Amino acid sequence: MDNRTPARTGVSLWARLVDAFYGRHTPAVQAVPFNSPEWEVDPDTETWWHLPPNTPAGMQEIRACAPDGYDFARLVWQACEVCCLGLIVKIKVTGPWQRHGYGSRMVRFALRDREGYRWTTTPQSEDARAFFPVITKATGVAFPREHHLCGHMQAGGPRHSRPSQQLDPPPG
Ligand SMILES: [Zn+2]
Repeated sequence: MDNRTPARTGVSLWARLVDAFYGRHTPAVQAVPFNSPEWEVDPDTETWWHLPPNTPAGMQEIRACAPDGYDFARLVWQACEVCCLGLIVKIKVTGPWQRHGYGSRMVRFALRDREGYRWTTTPQSEDARAFFPVITKATGVAFPREHHLCGHMQAGGPRHSRPSQQLDPPPG
């Protein structure tokens, strides 16, 4: 997960690359000091969003955002109900929001109604790798780094052409 420097970006680099791909404008990088109120973990002001998949086994995403729209927590995953396979593509929780249970809540959201699925992950950052044993302990689900995709998951299609939907904050 991101141990970000105070040079906070309005959105993550990854999101900006995706936006660049679609020709969307994203805000310029702005520096926000770590002691800024904007960095405070405040569950009352955060919003949660689900970006549904375009194909049944396509990529989907859950994000938690600060009032300025910054997505401080984000999980990208794919799940195929035909093959009972799940793949964690990316997980990120930005520095000040780490160790507040956001990662577990996002993974639990992805695991909902998916009993018996076999899950794997893509190769993750060192921070994210440290996170998975915690999740496994909490959920009983193993997440080996095998990056297993079925044909349905590989079917592709455009990402995120469907609108994101605001969610009730998932339970801890
Ligand atoms: Zn499949």
